Amino acid sequence: MTASTAADPPFRIAAALSRLGTETAFEVLARAHQLEATGRSILNLGIGQPDFTPAAHITEAAVKALRDGQHGYTPSPGILPLREAVAADLNGRHGVPVDPDHIVVVPGGKVTMAFAILMFGEAGAEILYPNPGFPIYESLIRFSGATPVPIRLHADLGFSFRAEEVLAQITPATRLIILNSPGNPTGGMTDDAELSALADGLTARPDIAILSDEIYSRLSFDGRPHRSLLATPALRDRVILLDGWSKTYAMTGWRLGYGVWPRALVPHATRLSVNIHSCVNAAAQYAGIAALIGPQTQVAEMAAAFQHRRDIAHDRLNRLPGVVCAKPRGAFYAFPSITGTGLDARTCQTRLLEEAGVATVAGTSFGAAGEGHIRLSTAASPSVIERAIDRMHGLLATA
Ligand code: PLP
Repeated sequence: MTASTAADPPFRIAAALSRLGTETAFEVLARAHQLEATGRSILNLGIGQPDFTPAAHITEAAVKALRDGQHGYTPSPGILPLREAVAADLNGRHGVPVDPDHIVVVPGGKVTMAFAILMFGEAGAEILYPNPGFPIYESLIRFSGATPVPIRLHADLGFSFRAEEVLAQITPATRLIILNSPGNPTGGMTDDAELSALADGLTARPDIAILSDEIYSRLSFDGRPHRSLLATPALRDRVILLDGWSKTYAMTGWRLGYGVWPRALVPHATRLSVNIHSCVNAAAQYAGIAALIGPQTQVAEMAAAFQHRRDIAHDRLNRLPGVVCAKPRGAFYAFPSITGTGLDARTCQTRLLEEAGVATVAGTSFGAAGEGHIRLSTAASPSVIERAIDRMHGLLATA
């Protein structure tokens, strides 16, 4: 840190900023890079991004768009051919008709999340969200002024929620329920019976919207189908679907995602887009079309590779002293319990990085219910996963 020579200016920052959280994975990544810069060898199982390069036809479509002169603003919700391609993709995968006019293309999956939370969140409102879950849910709920109400996930139910627990948490102030399957950080998936029970229980409350974060929709393992909430007729009219290109097509840095909104919410999502980012980078939108309508071979190859790595990680983690790992069903994370090591999650994260050179993320970075766990991203090569878990063994055997 550089010492400031002058006194800091007395800015009066909005109070809401003090309620904004962060994503520890980015801090771990920065620290890992710092250590690497000093010559240390770091094996990175921290940040969750595919270690693949997008298929060539996707990059070519962006280059062509730039050469063709696509340098200007586009319509705020996204160019029509892209929204049509998204609608056709969803129809093909889930067997549901989707109106392209309900789709709002945004710079990454996170933006649909932010729009949904800001649309419903204010003082006095309650928003339910998975805990442990993607940290930005709780962060933005608090920022909005709403009260975050954590939904418990159960390892013995494949890290699904239990419908009766969720329904018991609903009050007159509940406005939005956030669900995420396949899930970060657990690799879990929603149990079908629990989803049906939740849908039944919600019939009495048509005013409650559901944000279904399906960013890992193409990454479910062992032939287990991913069921979109859009394809659940009882929920369809209240679902805001979040998906995008980041994980499916290894395009995290392109910042391309979309939301499918109930008709009444489309103008609000569009207005938020106009106010905040105008539109998504035009060339990226053309690449997005190529990704959706082009060959899907790489998507299948990546899913198979992630399943293979899941098997390696799951098997080896369960051989570590004090560690128990439920089998992830999707996404590219393992979320083992480390309670048997005697270390709390944060200490485990720090010691693994500083002493063993393995970047992981403490379970508490995903909410209080993540204590006793760490998250490992399995979006790394099998040899990195194996070597990292060997190093963990060295540390945990003496912890
Ligand atoms: N939702 C979940 C559950 C995620 O894990 C992530 C990224 O890690 C996102 C949304 C955000 O995706 P994007 O990078 O497209 O903004």
